[in-house]
Amino acid sequence: MKKCLNCGSENKNENAFCSVCGGSSFAEPSTAPETASVPPVAPVPPAPPVPPVPPPPYIAPVPVKKPFGIFDVLTILGFVSSLVGLFSIWVVLEPLAVIASIIGFFKGGRFKGLAAAGIVISIIAFIIILFVTLYNGNIIGKWAIEGALNR
Ligand SMILES: [Zn+2]
Repeated sequence: MKKCLNCGSENKNENAFCSVCGGSSFAEPSTAPETASVPPVAPVPPAPPVPPVPPPPYIAPVPVKKPFGIFDVLTILGFVSSLVGLFSIWVVLEPLAVIASIIGFFKGGRFKGLAAAGIVISIIAFIIILFVTLYNGNIIGKWAIEGALNR
């Protein structure tokens, strides 16, 4: 606001002439801001440092042992059959070894290595049987059943 020097009435700053008397002389408008100054906000004190929480102690997961089941029995049966079948009644034991070992490998929880061994041994047994049979039937020569180092 600015004050008319002629009549003293308050006028808007943008008025060129006094709205009351029409005079054109005004006191300089006050430079003070027309809104009440807001007192500066007191700075927020920093939060007290939070002591670091120690991480919880690492607890190693307890391995869950699968119970000894029927498929583990099959695995052992298959492995033993694969070995015994190398020496007798292979025609029963080696097929049994393959089947029992394969089932034990996928279904059993404990003796995967043993199951794999049973599978490998019985497959080797089948290959040997095949070649010896072919040799005995004079279909292949002796060279085919000789050992790689025993020739
Ligand atoms: Zn005036």
